[in-house]
Order: sequence, then structure tokens, then C-alpha cells
Amino acid sequence: MFAHLHCHFFGSYSDSLLDPERVPGYLRDIGQQSIALTDHGVLDYAVPFHRACRAVGIHPVIGCEVYFVEDARRSIERGDNYRNHLVLLARDDRGLANLLGLVNDSWLENSFRQVRGLVDWKLLEKYHRGLIALSGCFWGSLPRKYVTGGIGEAEAEFRRYYEIFGRDFHPELGRHGIEEEEEANRGLIELSRRFGVTPVVTNDSHYQRPEDWEFHDILIKTRFGRATDFTLDSRQYCLKTEREMLDLGFPAEYCRVSEEIARRCRADPAPLAADLTVETTDTLEEKVFASRREVIDGPRALQHVAAVRKIGSPELEGILAPLPGGITMADARRSSPALENWISRHPGTGEAAGKLEGIPRRIVPDRETVIPVPLERLRGRIPLRRAGGSVIASCPRRVLEELGVPLRPAPKPA
Ligand SMILES: [Zn+2]
Ligand SMILES: [Zn+2]
Repeated sequence: MFAHLHCHFFGSYSDSLLDPERVPGYLRDIGQQSIALTDHGVLDYAVPFHRACRAVGIHPVIGCEVYFVEDARRSIERGDNYRNHLVLLARDDRGLANLLGLVNDSWLENSFRQVRGLVDWKLLEKYHRGLIALSGCFWGSLPRKYVTGGIGEAEAEFRRYYEIFGRDFHPELGRHGIEEEEEANRGLIELSRRFGVTPVVTNDSHYQRPEDWEFHDILIKTRFGRATDFTLDSRQYCLKTEREMLDLGFPAEYCRVSEEIARRCRADPAPLAADLTVETTDTLEEKVFASRREVIDGPRALQHVAAVRKIGSPELEGILAPLPGGITMADARRSSPALENWISRHPGTGEAAGKLEGIPRRIVPDRETVIPVPLERLRGRIPLRRAGGSVIASCPRRVLEELGVPLRPAPKPA
């Protein structure tokens, strides 16, 4: 049995088409039993993902693909943008509390220009208990060390992980059709042999079916609001079936171990925020605000599709201009015969826009809503980050409500 242990959802803002509340049902339909959530650097969707999995009988694993550096302070002081990836999975409730502590510390103490939280060896040492680590995609520090420094440097790097995680560290093998990745695979298999651990096969998943690559391509090309020529080196970042994973050609045991790892992970995020006591907001040293999601609406999605396909035109802009913000593609098409006509002359654009609309692009502070609990008490309970100069709860508002986190209107400035 194979389980996907490396999956990006909406929390990997502007890098994934996977809806944490829909994918579990799809996975069940293709015959799988477990799946992990490993968004880039956040745990924003852990609660809805966990609930959606349970609802359809899929075993959920809560994890995160963190941004990893040697020394976070040094990276921040030097403005050094280099980072590696590392996948961490919560084995039990203690592991989940540690993962939350680690992710929150990365954003609150090691925020790199407020765009990402950094994790370094110091944070791993502090929070590793109850966590399983995978070496990450081929941008992990272990495969990079092998590709750039050879087996000697990679072995030293492996030892550092092994000293922290012991047998809960697994080299991660992938086959997305990238030459450098194949070189990394050879090193990782050799290191696994030397250390007596089993490597695990993953597929870095960002969209559901292979043909969805094009919609993901539009999403990442327009992540800054206009089309760039950024492109990925592979079109294989989909949720493959077990058969497709076995057909990648790795030993079946390296696939099977994924389900074993998944079954060892039994963390439940629901009780995390229980029993938070409220204080008056003027006694709070630092206020924690709720957050809002900026979501792609229908007309914006269509603009992105047109820009990437290079069919943007003054005509389309003119048709979209009178439409209200926040409107869906379906409503836009109903209310504008000119738009319906334009779409019929540009086949596939309406469908592509429909795939992109509703996806959260980023989160911003909701300065009208404050959580009347001291920051220190929220740290170990809910996902937090710094954004726009404020500390915000980065999970969706309805998750806060579901968890029973108190929310109050922010006091008006005097
Ligand atoms: Zn990665
Ligand atoms: Zn990834």
C-alpha cells in the first residue's frame, strides 16, 4: 500500500491547486488509505484537512515542508535568500504541539522579510520530539549536499539528521523526470544502505491529475498579479495512483514504507486550542489579529489565463471592467453576454479560469478582529505569523471559530 506523504494544499499559497477539503474524497476514490498535508512552511489548513479526511475514512497525517537553513539568524542578517526544504510529520499529539511550536517560532522569531519562516538546526533540536523527518524534495539539504559536495559531505549531513531523529529520519526519493533528481536518488539510496534506514518514495503533489499541470502553471506564473515566464522543470507534480507510484521503478518496499510511516502518525489537531481564557484587550502586550484570505475571483482568474496564454486584449479588459469584484465565473458569464461570447471565441479559457477561481493567494491581517488572549498563550495552540507588521492567526477564521478561539472587535484607536 502506498501513501502520499508529500502534498501541498491551499496553505502553500499560490503554489497548489489542491483543496484540503476535497482531496481526501478523491484519494479514497482512487483506492488510497492515508495522506499527509505538508504545506510550505505553514499549518494553516491542518484542522479542515484533518476533519475532511476523517469524514471520508482516510487516515490523515499532519506535517509541513519547512524552509530549512543552517542558521536562521545569520540568513536573516545577511539577507541570504538561500534555503532548503525539509518535510516534518507529527507522529503523535506531542509531535503536533512541537510542530506547531516550531512553525510558530519560525514565523515569529525567524521571519525572513515576512515572506517565510525559517527553521534551522537549533529549532530542530528544540522541537524534534514526536516528529518524523523526510529529507524533502531534491531541494532538501541532504540531496543538495550530495549533488554539490559528493557522498562525503552528504554522509556528514545525514549524520546530523540521524543524531536528532534517529530511525525517524527517512531519505526521500522522487522521480519527476528531472536529471539532477536521479543523481540525488543514487546518493540517497547509498546513504540509506550505510545507515541501515529505508528510504521512502514520495511524489511532490501540487495538483490532482496530470493534465492539471497547465492550471498550476498559470497559478505560479501569475502569483505576483501579472504573468511571468517562471516555469517548473516537471509536469509530474500530481496525485499519482498507487499503480503509477509502483511503476516509477523503485523497489516496492520503498513505496510500501510510506503507508507504514503514515500509520505511525496519529496526531489530532482538534483539542489544541481548548480552554483559552480571555483577557481584556488593553492588558495585552502584543495584539494578535485574525486574518483574511485574498482569493482569486472569476474575472481575475480569466485575466491570468489570458495573460499566460498571451491572448490578453483591450477587448477582454473592456468586457471585465464593469463587473463587480469578488464575482464568480458562473455569475460573470451569466451577467455579461459579451464575456460569454469572448470565452466561446477562446476555447478552454472559461474552464481554466474556473479551476483557478476561489484559490487563496495570500493572507492579510484582519485588523477589525482581535483575539483577546496573550500571544504567549496562543503560541502553542494555533498557527501564527507576522504579516503587515502584526501578529495574526494564520488559519481561516471559521477554523478559529470551530476551535472555540475567542474573537472580539478590535478596540478603536483613541
Ligand atoms: Zn520541496
Ligand atoms: Zn514539496
